[in-house]
Amino acid sequence: MQILVISDIHANLQALQAVLAAAGPVDAIWCLGDLVGYGPNPNEVVETIRSQPNLLCVAGNHDVAIADANMDIRAFNAQAQASVRWQREQLTPDNRQFLQDLPRRPKIQGAVTLAHGSPRDHLWEYILNTRIAHSNFHHMRTRLAFIGHSHVQLGFEQKDGRHTHLLRIEPGQPITLQGRSAVLNPGSVGQPRDEDPRAAFAIFDTEAETWLPQRVEYDVETTRQRILAAGLPPRHAERLLHGW
Ligand code: ZN
Repeated sequence: MQILVISDIHANLQALQAVLAAAGPVDAIWCLGDLVGYGPNPNEVVETIRSQPNLLCVAGNHDVAIADANMDIRAFNAQAQASVRWQREQLTPDNRQFLQDLPRRPKIQGAVTLAHGSPRDHLWEYILNTRIAHSNFHHMRTRLAFIGHSHVQLGFEQKDGRHTHLLRIEPGQPITLQGRSAVLNPGSVGQPRDEDPRAAFAIFDTEAETWLPQRVEYDVETTRQRILAAGLPPRHAERLLHGW
């Protein structure tokens, strides 16, 4: 099976459409959360995701904050809070319910754990270094974990159950996962923060057990203009141009 793995779409419809087109026909889509937050098209993004066949999706911290109108959002910075409030008002009841119903803990699919932040702290922990990756391997009941949240396309491997190191991830270069223990982040569709403004995603081939990280250009300018026109924080528009 060819599985499209995506995360952190953040209400960026242009980026999501570019990723779906670039991925082409796939057998399933695994979505690691944060469909909404930051961007200008929360309803359109939720509806596009909901309509995908063979979808498996877990909740991200923004999905939970936006679906639960009573959740305390002081953990977000001021600009993210402004975006959360705007998106709460925009969402249709149906789309809010979809976000509300997303699983808030990791999902296991065969050899893979799917989590938003990390296997041990589904909603909030960032895996950005080998130390945090290393301690998460002890919380995995599977050989592999696919995660999002940091908006950085990266991966870590653990060898002999002891040593954890960063994997070399190059867009367009498949890595084989057979017999290996790894934590992989496909990067962010709608708000990359690894200094590459292109939308990020990965294709997981379950038979060959390969992971193919990819990037695709999208119409950043349209998303940028829509963020500004909606009165959302300008920083969330500008950062898209540079991928930070
Ligand atoms: Zn995110």
